Amino acid sequence: MQIGVQYYRPPFPNERYWKDDLKNIRAAGFNTLQLWVLWGWVEAQPGRFDFADYDRLIELANTTGLKVVLSAIAEVQPLWIHREIPGSEMLNHLGQKIVSSNRNECHFGITPGGCFDNPAVWERMRIFFRTVAGRYKDAPNLYGWDAWNELRWNVHTQGLVCFCGHTLKYFREWLGEKYGGLDGLNRAWQRRYINWDDVSPGWAANRPFTETMAFQHFLTVRANEHGRKRYETIKAEDPVHPITMHGGAPSMYYCGTGNDFGDQILTPMDRGNDWDLASYLDGVGCSSFPKWGRQDWADFAVRMNTIRSAAGQKRLWLSELQGGRAGQGFSQQGPVQAVEQQHWLWNGIAVGAEAILFWCWKDEVFTTEAGGFGVSGFDGYAAERLAAFKATEGLLEKYRNVWDAYRPSRPDIGVYFSPQSAYLHWCNNKCSETYLNALLGYGKALVRSNVPFEMIEEEHLDELKRLKVLFMPRALVTDKKTEKKLVDYVSGGGTLVVESECGAFDSRGIYRYPENRFLNKLGIREVGRRTIDKDTVKFQAVADKRRFDLTGSQWVTPWLSDRGQTWARYGKEILAGEVAIGKGKVILLGTYLGETYFSKRGRGLEAFLKMICARFAQRPDVEVAGNRKGDIYFQDGTSGGKHVFFVFCESKCETVTVKISKHSLRSQTLTDLVSGKTAKGIKHQNDALAFKFNVPEERMLVLLEVKNP
Ligand SMILES: [Zn+2]
Repeated sequence: MQIGVQYYRPPFPNERYWKDDLKNIRAAGFNTLQLWVLWGWVEAQPGRFDFADYDRLIELANTTGLKVVLSAIAEVQPLWIHREIPGSEMLNHLGQKIVSSNRNECHFGITPGGCFDNPAVWERMRIFFRTVAGRYKDAPNLYGWDAWNELRWNVHTQGLVCFCGHTLKYFREWLGEKYGGLDGLNRAWQRRYINWDDVSPGWAANRPFTETMAFQHFLTVRANEHGRKRYETIKAEDPVHPITMHGGAPSMYYCGTGNDFGDQILTPMDRGNDWDLASYLDGVGCSSFPKWGRQDWADFAVRMNTIRSAAGQKRLWLSELQGGRAGQGFSQQGPVQAVEQQHWLWNGIAVGAEAILFWCWKDEVFTTEAGGFGVSGFDGYAAERLAAFKATEGLLEKYRNVWDAYRPSRPDIGVYFSPQSAYLHWCNNKCSETYLNALLGYGKALVRSNVPFEMIEEEHLDELKRLKVLFMPRALVTDKKTEKKLVDYVSGGGTLVVESECGAFDSRGIYRYPENRFLNKLGIREVGRRTIDKDTVKFQAVADKRRFDLTGSQWVTPWLSDRGQTWARYGKEILAGEVAIGKGKVILLGTYLGETYFSKRGRGLEAFLKMICARFAQRPDVEVAGNRKGDIYFQDGTSGGKHVFFVFCESKCETVTVKISKHSLRSQTLTDLVSGKTAKGIKHQNDALAFKFNVPEERMLVLLEVKNP
């Protein structure tokens, strides 16, 4: 496993620090160094590459016993790009040339630079990738490539990009291929175009959704395909080392912003889709700055589950994880303490990450990030952090065979993520945050209930075969292909949990009357939007002989069905209920539960989701509880046929008890690798064994089955 730190973003740290720093990095227990190889820096003169600093650093890393991950940064472009390739600027939606500038957190080189749809720009970029890959592919300590840092391409732009001739041509060709020429487009969009030149990208919210959703989708596909070109270029030079890319967050988290006059406009998933990237890359990852982003442990757990879901069977890298206190101008930022940082790290291991790279070793020295982020930085906690890394290195070394064979378990509960629904939300709100919060609300309620789940993307539904329950928060957009798979899934025995107006729009953004939605074919129909008195609507659902207090938002859309059980009413109509379809079930919720939970935790939804999962999926065979109230979180997997349980204590408890079904264990003894303590299972009800452990000061346990004494 690679546990490393980001080190060099030229020209910092200056060379005088290198030797001592690398020695200290290795001594602290890290085995990997990440270096930014900046196009604008190494090719400051057209056609002349200067790698002298990297040569020295990579060699020094090798003699110090450190592997290197090279981040090839082509999106910080040389200052000469527009001089060498006149007219290569991106254009925004108003037809204005984008003025590039030095990047805020990067000392030399311009952003966004030329448009990569311009063949001359791509050719120069390609030469950069080929040259870097060719130079270092045989470096003895090269571990792998990070071929696209945070999937950046439209940083420091004005308005929405890109509307240059190359990109518009690509957009129209993409539409032509998708729909079968202009006639096909006219049929699909119900338009009367006579010329492709009239087919324009949608660039503003609150205009016809069709071309706006199409352009958002196109920008996602365009980023995916640009990533593929980077990958193929490096792979052609270096077929040996893994090549990954990472977003600043899982791509699902990109909600877009805009569009007030003059500001930058961003659209959801404009930096690509992790699920698509993972289909051709050797791995994907994401950055995470939990303290900076004010994420609690449940936010972080959802994030880890999301990126792991997207990575599938490919490699997972936590490509940037917060090292020290965030630097963000003069704002107050909390320090990073060792215990929480180690929880992030071990969460990563629990979901199967093979590389975890901290940002960064030394505090930054320029622009708003100055004075921030260093693992060894000056926020007052460097000593305890470094001691904790050393201890972790010890555990990773001692149980190396356990980690080498470790695989996280695959849950049978899914949460459905629909990029098309994100695009539709942007069209309504200039941002798709409401949709994201709906997904995160369900995710957080599930992790806080210790129900493992997977995020299921709408174009990757093969995963449905494994699933017992699929939650579809705010899935407003569905198309025929998806609908067929969902209906087959339910008929075959799956449980689908749908919220208000599921599938009310097609992917062209046209609204469907209730009788035209796919659920209507199953005999379930919504009666229409009913205004609620306040922002939220509180109600009780009665199911499985229990009561659940739930809070919805936006509106209610009661359901009609001539069969099934009613769980809650709105007046005389059905607000929540359950209908049997074929061998499966559809659970109806005529409002939206995720966002209200995301903004304010409610135990009702946690219990409600847990009940649904327990009724319609296999009962979870692990339960953890502390001796005091509060959250205990677990992740699990197997290694060489043995269970491994990761337990994170967010409560103040002194002991935890883990109850595990006897049948899922090969041994009746568990050892906590963190404290070294062993516990024998004591018989508990329902054929479970209970294991009790003291909580060590690390506030986490890693439990491994050991042979019966
Ligand atoms: Zn362009």
